Amino acid sequence: MILVYTENTNGKFKKSTYEALSYAKAIGQKLNVDVAAISFGTTDNDELKNLAQYGANKIFQVINSKFQSFNGQAYASAIAEAALQNNCNVVVIGNSFSGKGLAPRVAIKLNAGFVDGAISLPDTANGFVVRKGAYSGKAFADVNVLAATKVISLVPNSYKVETNPCETNIEEFNPTVKESDFKLTIKETVRAGDKISLPEAELVVSAGRGLKGPENWGMVEELAGLLGAATACSKPVSDSHWRPHSEHVGQTGIAISPNLYIAIGISGAIQHLAGVSSSKTIVVINKDAEAPFFKAADYGIIGDAFEIVPKLIESVKKFKAAI
Ligand SMILES: Cc1cc2nc3c(=O)[nH]c(=O)nc-3n(C[C@H](O)[C@H](O)[C@H](O)COP(=O)(O)OP(=O)(O)OC[C@H]3O[C@@H](n4cnc5c(N)ncnc54)[C@H](O)[C@@H]3O)c2cc1C
Repeated sequence: MILVYTENTNGKFKKSTYEALSYAKAIGQKLNVDVAAISFGTTDNDELKNLAQYGANKIFQVINSKFQSFNGQAYASAIAEAALQNNCNVVVIGNSFSGKGLAPRVAIKLNAGFVDGAISLPDTANGFVVRKGAYSGKAFADVNVLAATKVISLVPNSYKVETNPCETNIEEFNPTVKESDFKLTIKETVRAGDKISLPEAELVVSAGRGLKGPENWGMVEELAGLLGAATACSKPVSDSHWRPHSEHVGQTGIAISPNLYIAIGISGAIQHLAGVSSSKTIVVINKDAEAPFFKAADYGIIGDAFEIVPKLIESVKKFKAAI
């Protein structure tokens, strides 16, 4: 059986959960095995049952209030325990902010082979070969996982959500509570706002030092708002406190892989590209035709951001009004 960690926010499963489940189902079909999902803290039964639409043959629900809020140590122990009890040789975890910390812990507990940041289904014709990004997105590595148990963390937006309806069975799962896992507890979670989460965003509007100062971010936010995109920025922008550090993308910031990345007034330094080059489509707006970012761009607009972005905003508004 394959086990999938299903991440939820306030009881609603995230898109990365459905991607991980669809991915696991496709592996299950290759290996001819079932897929199980493990869910923590959600109480909404319809939401849980809906996992069957994406191929979860079995759902383990952890109700124990100790596991209500995310705790990397405790969740890893519980996932490993569920995997061992149910002979799950493959564990799939979305490579979200919390998944990034969770997956290696699960791999250690299961003495498993670990692929962090998978972007393809395994090729099982000759081993178990999974493709992942390497050298900050400048290369791919095809990793053959030799260990009997495999843990895969899947990059958000790298596998599409597919429906695969099946019969399901919801079972309560009571993990062993190890006090040593609860040295840190979350007392309260205060959300920063209703902004779209950057690591998992499908569309990102990002800007750099070409915008001259924080007072000019209104148009970036307006464009992002119209497109339903998250906002991001280059490192010097967050270092100068024009934008929060949570928006900094690149080698030393967040690595993202959205379907669309719009870069406004960003030169395209190698350290910036390291975190964004796996975006599916890159649009660059820069007034310098020689800016290195154009080499990585699918579409480039040479011109002044202060003229182009307002025009883009008007076009998007017209387009939205017409549909
Ligand atoms: C160890 C290390 C790690 C780093 N990690 C990161 C990282 O994670 N992320 C990151 O982003 N950087 C990182 N950097 C910094 C990186 O090298 C660059 O300095 C940085 O990315 C440049 O940011 P920028 O493109 O916003 O600014 P600039 O390089 O100053 O570029 C501004 C761009 O805006 C254009 N421009 C100016 N005015 C306009 C206008 N009116 N309209 C349109 N275009 C305009 C200019 O032509 C220029 O191309 C790192 C550096 C080091 C040494």
